[in-house]
Amino acid sequence: MTISDNIKRVEDCIAAVCARADRDPAEITLVAVSKQKTVAEILEAVEAGLQHLGENRVEEGMGKIPQVNELASGGVTWHMVGHVQSRKAKHVFPYFDIVQSVDSLKLAKRLSRLAGERNRSLTAFLEINVSGEASKYGLAGYNWYRDNSIKDSLWTEVALIAALPHLAIKGLMTMAPFDAEEQAIRRVFADLRALRDEMTTQLQVPLPELSMGMTNDYHIAIEEGATMIRVGRAIFGERV
Ligand SMILES: *Cc1c(COP(=O)(O)O)cnc(C)c1O
Repeated sequence: MTISDNIKRVEDCIAAVCARADRDPAEITLVAVSKQKTVAEILEAVEAGLQHLGENRVEEGMGKIPQVNELASGGVTWHMVGHVQSRKAKHVFPYFDIVQSVDSLKLAKRLSRLAGERNRSLTAFLEINVSGEASKYGLAGYNWYRDNSIKDSLWTEVALIAALPHLAIKGLMTMAPFDAEEQAIRRVFADLRALRDEMTTQLQVPLPELSMGMTNDYHIAIEEGATMIRVGRAIFGERV
């Protein structure tokens, strides 16, 4: 199987799930997560038609992104999907177009300041830890609909982040537990969507994008309302 065969298969799967869920496949953006993959492999995905690429480490992106951008025939949008350490935040610029993994007020403030110094605005999503796993990054959102203290601090943080002058918050991102039962995974995605709906009305922050679903669970995420899925292994093969 080539990378372009894999992409075709993922796109067919997206179409099939959308047909079942009564959704339009045009609503779903496929982000190919190219971490640990070579420039040549990434270019294969771009030549096969993909325009959205994701990396989870700033330094790895700094190495590959300029090469891919120079050699790619069409324009590519780069998504940062992994945790960004504060001291590396400045290197997000000018490589990444979207930071999906804004997981603290501190990082948000820093990115806004850095964007302002560059006379630009940075598109960002808020990463929410809905599953409650200690190993996951994200603003605390476990059980947000049952626990008022979680909801209050989340609302406060999101309002402060949304007010930052040089960040344009466009959506929410989450990761489901890796090897949980389908019901538990579905619950995480449904919770993120409900959170988005409630934040949008109560905080008046438009959050059109819901980035959720990876190789193992993107079919569930689409059924639960994902507008963006982040797929690595199903496109590029297993990572070693
Ligand atoms: C690696 C990664 C993905 C893609 O995972 P696959 O299982 O390879 O599809 C998606 N999102 C994030 C944040 C990642 O780090």
